Amino acid sequence: MKSRSVYRATPDHAAATATAREERGQWVMACLYPSSASAKTIARRVPIAEMMPAYEPAGAYEAYAAQHTDGHALWVRYVVGDEPVPVLPDRMSVRIRHDGDGPGYCGVGIITVTVSTRCPQCGGPRGFDTVIPHRFHHDGDWYVADRWANKCGHVDMYDAVLAESREVLLPLVAAPLPVPAPPAEDSPAGLILTAAKKSRGMHAQQAARLLDVHGHIEEAERIRAELRSRNGHMSAKQAADLLHALSGPVAEGGVQ
Ligand SMILES: [Zn+2]
Repeated sequence: MKSRSVYRATPDHAAATATAREERGQWVMACLYPSSASAKTIARRVPIAEMMPAYEPAGAYEAYAAQHTDGHALWVRYVVGDEPVPVLPDRMSVRIRHDGDGPGYCGVGIITVTVSTRCPQCGGPRGFDTVIPHRFHHDGDWYVADRWANKCGHVDMYDAVLAESREVLLPLVAAPLPVPAPPAEDSPAGLILTAAKKSRGMHAQQAARLLDVHGHIEEAERIRAELRSRNGHMSAKQAADLLHALSGPVAEGGVQ
């Protein structure tokens, strides 16, 4: 079996959408990107299916980008159907146990904090809808804190939640995206665009063969996979746009 790097050069959106369709309304991690800008760009394109044929028709999927221990994750969910899917809020408020910072502090403290609803490890939705009161006994007194379970399986520890709540909560509203630079001439997308200029009506199948010749085997396979999901309807120009969109053309740090 072929090994894959953490940053998959050929994100398998077809597999992600298949899983998402089976579990309508449930968030599925589609893939990881090395830069937050790339993940945000793709997250913006998914709901409108812009150059993302796996997510057609427009409006069938929702998406968001979130930080992941190994990069930046794209999370998607399928929303087509009569019953509305529950809204994923941006924040959740919970009661946690915090017994004080200073030396000599004794006793139990319960404080209410507000944190993101995204798991800090994988970016998946936290169990904001599973919060239940947890009563505990300490030194003759009863206290109540909150507990919740994250669907991703990552466990939130109170100390980490407290630290997170003390960080500045940045607005989740997306900043304007920088205009991506055109593909470099010697990149797979650039090679296709140069050839397509000379050969009007060039098909994506020819673009894939061109990439084979130049040794860009993975990109050629990516195009063929897309072609299959589009039932063979794809121009060379569309293939170039797709590769360019997936290559993470926006510089890291372009969007904060
Ligand atoms: Zn997680």
